[in-house]
Amino acid sequence: LNGNKDSLSNSDREIEKALRPLSFEDFAGQDKILENLKIFVAAARLRGEALDHVLLHGPPGLGKTTLSNIVANELGSGIKITSGPVLDKPSDLAGLLTNLDTNDVLFIDEIHRLNPIVEEYLYSAMEDYKIDIMLDSGPNARSVQIGLNPFTLIGATTRAGMLTSPLRARFGINCRLEYYDAKLLTTIVMRSCHILGTPVDEEAAYEIARRSRGTPRIANNLLRRTRDFAQIKGTGRITLAIAQMALKALDVDEYGLDEMDLRILRTIIHKFKGGPVGITTIATACGEEGETIEEVYEPFLIQEGFIKRTQRGREVTEKAYKHLGLASPNQTGT
Ligand code: ATP
Repeated sequence: LNGNKDSLSNSDREIEKALRPLSFEDFAGQDKILENLKIFVAAARLRGEALDHVLLHGPPGLGKTTLSNIVANELGSGIKITSGPVLDKPSDLAGLLTNLDTNDVLFIDEIHRLNPIVEEYLYSAMEDYKIDIMLDSGPNARSVQIGLNPFTLIGATTRAGMLTSPLRARFGINCRLEYYDAKLLTTIVMRSCHILGTPVDEEAAYEIARRSRGTPRIANNLLRRTRDFAQIKGTGRITLAIAQMALKALDVDEYGLDEMDLRILRTIIHKFKGGPVGITTIATACGEEGETIEEVYEPFLIQEGFIKRTQRGREVTEKAYKHLGLASPNQTGT
């Protein structure tokens, strides 16, 4: 439910495809980013040039892939999609780059996980639309330079901080996607219901929205499951009562915190007296990777004010104690 793309069933995948916005018009929220991108795309089209390279960063499920497809659509260009870990060798990258048509988009997801050697090759491709390819190896080794069609690289990452500075410097457009507020997510849920032909009450859409961790992918996932409840336990219409029943059955709590969010909070409270405690220590105690905690869970917990970051590590807040129904040390001490 946390929005892992790889765990979708076939029918869920079909639905996800149908719900994906295809134009700037359909894409809700991220207003500032959209306003700028619209101008840059229009200017690139006007000049008949490739759009400058774009870096999209932010937590998973906020629409980086969606936005990249939209940019390609709006440019009237083709798009090739790959990801950092898949580009194992320079030849993998060269194969993709040499197959791009003029002004096409190359989308590299998880760009912070590029092999450093492949990354080196990307520099000249981004800068001069050229790539050096090594022919043969050993004493016969020689490199040939191949010219590429002008293209736009769109890199997506959940960890902008992990990008090397030479790579970061080669992106002319840098966008940070933010979590969506409940009102925006309500419009996304309403739109999805409309596409799926599922009747929904606005208060029910809001209920799903506000419990979706600020993330459209989670909102759509919860909607799909709520729709199942509506069809089996109700009349097919998603009402507030149906939404509440479904969310309860799915163990989604009032704030949309999932099992791992709660485990993190409880661990800091019970094992580390509420903190401060380092992220690696929290990760080990929770049985999760530090990187995942830092990029998937922590940003939302911080944004919602359950955790704060201090010089000495992470600390839970009063709000976390309250939400878990626990007395905070500050309360008991006074
Ligand atoms: P990841 O970083 O994990 O690849 P992502 O940020 O690329 O995630 P997407 O796959 O683009 O996220 O979006 C997830 C789903 O959420 C999409 O299928 C799309 O339907 C929906 N979605 C994302 N952003 C929006 C939006 N602004 N308006 C409507 N739907 C959206």
